[in-house]
Order: sequence, then structure tokens, then C-alpha cells
Amino acid sequence: MKWMQGVINGVSFVGVELEDGRLLDVGRATYALSPESQLPSSLLECLEHYDVEGIVSKLLSFDFETLRYYAYDPGEVALQPPLTNPYKHVLCIGKNYADHVTEMTKDASLPEAPVVFTKGPGTIIGHQSPIPAHSSVTAALDYEGELAVVIGKKGRAINQEDAFTHVFGYTILNDVTARDLQTKHKQFYLGKSLDGTCPIGPYVISKDAIPDVTKLTIETRVNGELRQRGSLKDLIFDIPTIIAELSKGMTLVPGDIIATGTPAGVGKGMNPPMFLRQGDTVAITIAGIGELVNTVK
Ligand code: MG
Repeated sequence: MKWMQGVINGVSFVGVELEDGRLLDVGRATYALSPESQLPSSLLECLEHYDVEGIVSKLLSFDFETLRYYAYDPGEVALQPPLTNPYKHVLCIGKNYADHVTEMTKDASLPEAPVVFTKGPGTIIGHQSPIPAHSSVTAALDYEGELAVVIGKKGRAINQEDAFTHVFGYTILNDVTARDLQTKHKQFYLGKSLDGTCPIGPYVISKDAIPDVTKLTIETRVNGELRQRGSLKDLIFDIPTIIAELSKGMTLVPGDIIATGTPAGVGKGMNPPMFLRQGDTVAITIAGIGELVNTVK
């Protein structure tokens, strides 16, 4: 299933894409067709309180003509980020592709444990929302195309073998980074947490739709020019390892977002570096998941 969050006529809703591309308002459809299981209007609350996949699977057994009545044309809908106001900051893994480690620091050794940092909740924006240029605080705004994992089931001390049972699905994330602030302030936090520097979406794709996540490839283009091309099979720490490490002593909860790292080809790695400028458009594509597009304004 392909999940989204949007606004129509001023009202927020959680949607899943129907076979004709229309967006089913799962809250409205459930209220009408399956009133014993009502759903809230944010995906985060749906994940937290409800067996939303089970409820929506049942809903999808209604005939297509009935469902169409509760669906919208995508052109009528203002897309939001699929997840807003998560309980945790966005969890990010750094230096998780060998080619990216060496483009950032020549002869650097590979990390022996996942490098973990976070981005503040105020960073999250949706598909086609503008990325603020922040030109008064940074002269080195950079992109990082990444696959993000969305947690669906609470857990602590999760074994690698059980890791995928805690995953709800996947989305695309741009870990926009102010490189100068990232180094100036020693910790990554400020350079990673300027407002609007975490575009995610447009959709969250259910885990079941992606049988083998290591087969995914990720591409990032700036103004149409291919800058990054990576394969998820090249992660230094794979998704089960990341989930096991993060959850050793910290509870993961539904709606937690984990960015898995970026491959080589970021602006800082180019010679000379090519940082983002006003008007630049960054498009990140993962076949099977979608395309996330944002312009720097
Ligand atoms: Mg990153």
C-alpha cells in the first residue's frame, strides 16, 4: 500500500492510493463503510493506536466503484509530509556508504559502529515544499538522498532477525545539511536541524510492497543533473543492524523515522564543492517508492 497525508478543502486526511491513482480518504471511508473502526486524520496517530493496515486491507475489499466515492483526484489534494510531529527527532545514520565516507574525508576509515545523529522535528517538510536557503546562516547547504525506514511496532532490544516485523514501511528523505555549521559546532545537530531541512515523502510504501530492500537503488538529481546513484545493498550497516543497535537501550515507537545514510555524490564531495543555491531543485528517486522533489527558496 502507498500511504500519504494531505489536505483537501482545509481538512487533513490519511490516504492510500487506489489502482487508478486516486487517493482514498481512509478516515472518511472507514467512517462510512466500517464504522466500528474509526481512524484519526494523521498517519502517526493511525500507526500509534490502530491496526491501520488491517483496517484498510478490509476497506480495500469493498468494490472499486464504492471506494471511488471516498477518493480524491491527486490534483485536488495538497500533499503534506506523510509523518508530522513524530515523538522523537528524526534518527539518522551517517557515514553508512563507503564511497560517501571517502568523498568526505580521504583515507578515512570506515565506522565500526553506526554513526547516529538526529534532526529536529521542525526540519520536516513535504514533497514540493520549498527548502529555505538560510543564506544568512550558511554558505554550504548540501543535499543527501536517503531511504528512510518508518517504524510501525514499538520495541526495545529488537533482534536483527525480528527487525523487519517492527518496520511499517519506507519513504524518501533528503538530509539537507549546512556543512559549515556541521563542522563549526562540533556536533552535527545544528547543521542538520535548520528549519525545513528534512523533506520526506511523498508517500510511505508498506513494507510488504518491498520484498527485498537491498535491491533498491537511489538517485539524486540537482536541476536534472545526476549527482548520486547508490544501492541499498551497499549499506555498511544494514537495516536489521541499525534497528538492533538503536533499540538496544532506547524504545523505538510507531512513527519513528530512521534515515539510513547517503551514498557518494553530495555537493561537498565534488571538486570544487557544489552547494545548493536559491532556485536549485533536488529530486531524489527510489524506484518502487517514488520521487521526492524540493526547490531551494
Ligand atoms: Mg545523511
